[in-house]
Amino acid sequence: MNKAPSPTPAPASASVLEAGATDRPVLTIRDMHISYFARGQEIKAVRGINLTVNAGETLALVGESGSGKSSVAFSTMRGLDAAGRLMHGSIHFHETDLLSLGPRELRSIQGSRIAMVYQDPQTALNPAFRIGEQIAEVVNEHTAASGWQARQRVLDLLDEVNLPDPAGVYLRYPHELSGGQQQRVLIAMAFACNPELLIMDEPTTGLDVTTEAHILDLVAKLKKTHGSAILYITHNLGVVARFCHRVAVMYAGEIVEEGLVSRVFSKPAHPYTRSLLTCIPRLDLSKRDRALNAIEGRLPNLADLPGGCIFAARCNERQDACENTSVTLDPVGDDATDFVRCLRWREMPEFQFDRHTRDVNAMHTATILDTLLEIENLRCYYQLRRGIKEFVTGGAAKYVHAVDDVDLVLARGQTLAIVGESGCGKTTLGRTVVGLQSATAGDLVFEGNQLAGIARAREPDLRRRIQIIFQNPDATLNPQKSVGETIRRPLDLFGLVSAAEQKNRVAELLQSVNLPPSFAQRYPHELSGGEKQRVAIARAFAAEPELIVCDEPLSALDVSVQAAILNLLVDLQKTSKTAYMFISHDLSVVRYLSDQVAVMYMGRLCEIGTPEEVFVPPYHPYTEALLSAISIPDPSIEQEIVRLEGPVPSPINLASGCRFASRCPRKVGEICEREDPPLYQFGDNHRLYCHIPREDLEKMRPVIRYAGEEMAVV
Ligand code: SF4
Ligand code: SF4
Repeated sequence: MNKAPSPTPAPASASVLEAGATDRPVLTIRDMHISYFARGQEIKAVRGINLTVNAGETLALVGESGSGKSSVAFSTMRGLDAAGRLMHGSIHFHETDLLSLGPRELRSIQGSRIAMVYQDPQTALNPAFRIGEQIAEVVNEHTAASGWQARQRVLDLLDEVNLPDPAGVYLRYPHELSGGQQQRVLIAMAFACNPELLIMDEPTTGLDVTTEAHILDLVAKLKKTHGSAILYITHNLGVVARFCHRVAVMYAGEIVEEGLVSRVFSKPAHPYTRSLLTCIPRLDLSKRDRALNAIEGRLPNLADLPGGCIFAARCNERQDACENTSVTLDPVGDDATDFVRCLRWREMPEFQFDRHTRDVNAMHTATILDTLLEIENLRCYYQLRRGIKEFVTGGAAKYVHAVDDVDLVLARGQTLAIVGESGCGKTTLGRTVVGLQSATAGDLVFEGNQLAGIARAREPDLRRRIQIIFQNPDATLNPQKSVGETIRRPLDLFGLVSAAEQKNRVAELLQSVNLPPSFAQRYPHELSGGEKQRVAIARAFAAEPELIVCDEPLSALDVSVQAAILNLLVDLQKTSKTAYMFISHDLSVVRYLSDQVAVMYMGRLCEIGTPEEVFVPPYHPYTEALLSAISIPDPSIEQEIVRLEGPVPSPINLASGCRFASRCPRKVGEICEREDPPLYQFGDNHRLYCHIPREDLEKMRPVIRYAGEEMAVV
């Protein structure tokens, strides 16, 4: 029988308090054990967790999928689903034992003194009610505000979370807002009663970096104003570095390391923390430098826990003793809040981030020797449905300009990354190349052949040569079909191998994505997220394509899985010479994988060049803002703060001039709104469109630098 791990010693108080924080605990969790019961098995999801969050403090709870971090949050809110049960432990809010409260007492605390922001705003907001009504309900239930006062409070909150036109947003339904706007509504709702404890469960996952940066600024401001304690649950270490004071790292239901962010990120003690920090692509690392560090293997089976260290099966530092010795928490250094659960942490070499500095005069420049795809003056407009008013008045039709006059060239065997916020047109561009939708105007020329708009109208062989990998592998995998059948489909469709050879080819393809051939018999529900994405990649490569459009294929994956898939994409590209059009909002991933980067805003191209050209000055002001918003977990790197404040223009019937003008922190003047920006060419392939004089662009400082240096991180 496995012994329960020793609980985390309860930190008496943080010796280095966060500015504005006190040593007064708001949330105290002791010896928490949570199990789920399914198919006659007990899954011990959380074991022996201790956490303390003080007033005015932000504690990050970090871990990958399956680590148990969200279970801790739901249990604290007394909201575990029917299969989950809190088996043991105590949860105190100030002095109040939350587990002893009845439903009515609990409801009076939740929403007013304790609030939670969920990862998916669509499940937290009621689609049938207007935004204003939903926030007003929280205000009415927990305060004595009159109807008018509640409405005014809601308008103030919407304004506080920087939603443009609060009165308009008040009247809208959730589906009329973007994901980032919905998330701000949830934050407004959470702060409606100035809660003393705020639990945030992956509140920025899936948002653009600019929106994420804005939301984090906002929560920091609200925390400062109201002195709330925040438990911030995330798998994003960059966000933790930027936003949190203390961090607890969870793995497979246990806290394996806890301490001040400043110490954990500069001197991580646990091999898992060290691996997590080094498997994130760095802005100074390219696929040409080396492969990424991935954490091989899978989480242990929580229904049949291994003896000894829970991380042993995946740990590079493992020794025999690790597998048969119970591992307790050890204090790290003199700080009463820092602990690690590892037998060998004292023997580890000093931790260092793998810095790759480059000679700026010997930067990589793109050489397009063998053109595969030319995109010329591409436009994709959607006509909006005409309303009654337009019919009556005969008003002109309205169009969304999703992609507007885009020119790009992609070379054989290279990766062209398309980056930008949601709505910039990057996904529309990718779907048009694959033929999932047709263009309004312009040309797509693939190996000298003009591509027809819709895939159905293309020759089968042209369809075969351009494939797509979606963000969500479930879009590719039919739950009724085995992995083998899924991969066999393109072999059949395009007649690539004989029926007799198909089994071997499926096995080869599975091996090429580092899955055993036996996976051919499995069904999607038996696979992890990373395994599903590998199968989707194998299916795309089964067609032996020359170009794969990768539409955010990593954004739903944990960082360790993401590193393994990135390595896989690089290896497959080397052997097959397949080109990728890689659509992403993650600039670190783009930096690592791409040969060229195109930055798009509201359907237009702002800048294009190699990552070494685009990620250093001169920048387009939009690129500069995107870079500034990246969350970087390396304390030896510093960033300028550039925030985009103005309203995002409507993509319908856009006016002339620079589309970024309403948000541009470097706007030159009225010319930006009047005239389309001119093209500047720096070097052979680096182009950007802006009214800033060339000499001023050339004087820009790097927005991401090594601390204390002027050198750009690239
Ligand atoms: S106890 Fe052993 S296996 Fe576990 S993390 Fe430490 S070195 Fe690795
Ligand atoms: S053209 Fe003007 S508004 Fe547009 S990016 Fe340049 S400075 Fe900013």
